[in-house]
Amino acid sequence: MIAPPGAGKGTQGVVIAEHFGIPHIATGDLLRDHVARGTELGRSVQTCLDRGELVPDEVVLDMVRAALEALQGDGWVLDGVPRTMEQARALYQIALELDMTADVALHLQVDDAELVRRLLARAVQTGRSDDTEDVIRHRLALYYEVTHPILQWYDERGILVSVDANRDAGAVGRHILTALEVLRQIVDRDDGTARKAVDLTGLGAAFGARPSH
Ligand code: ADP
Repeated sequence: MIAPPGAGKGTQGVVIAEHFGIPHIATGDLLRDHVARGTELGRSVQTCLDRGELVPDEVVLDMVRAALEALQGDGWVLDGVPRTMEQARALYQIALELDMTADVALHLQVDDAELVRRLLARAVQTGRSDDTEDVIRHRLALYYEVTHPILQWYDERGILVSVDANRDAGAVGRHILTALEVLRQIVDRDDGTARKAVDLTGLGAAFGARPSH
């Protein structure tokens, strides 16, 4: 799932996981859990989280690799990663190694004003340390700068599904599940063409490649 903060990744990630009976792996939850338990990893990332900065790629990637390796059965929802081009590239390599490349990249589109409204409302309820107005605006800016451009790559791979997530969570959830159920039938019949392998050297503008001529 790729979406700006406040778009509902967490909520919809759980809806998808429950519907398909698969685990929901959310990097933000895993990191906050480390902070809450006071682990060494938690202590090393706490300042990043509080400021709305990204934690170092290798921290997230090691965590996600371990989570993927521990999976049993078929299927998973990844929420919160990749967040940068580098993470997208590295995650794809990891997934290739584990034979676990994604069938779908789900993008939740929400207008900025609605995002800020939701995050400020959430701040009152959860008291999450990064849900203050300044940090929210920073996380949003960071999303557009480093995360949003990844969508182009998933589009080129033919696995991007973009959903209007401005509506209430129930309506968005139904829309997502409908789209995924339709896609599941295509993926189940997949003869290898629906999920195109990607040549990492040929990802074009999404990875900042310059034309060779
Ligand atoms: P949101 O989408 O609302 O920002 P998350 O729970 O996904 O919330 O992430 C919270 C914080 O966890 C981020 O601001 C960042 O500090 C850290 N984080 C989560 N996933 C990643 C990632 N893939 N790479 C770097 N930092 C991450």
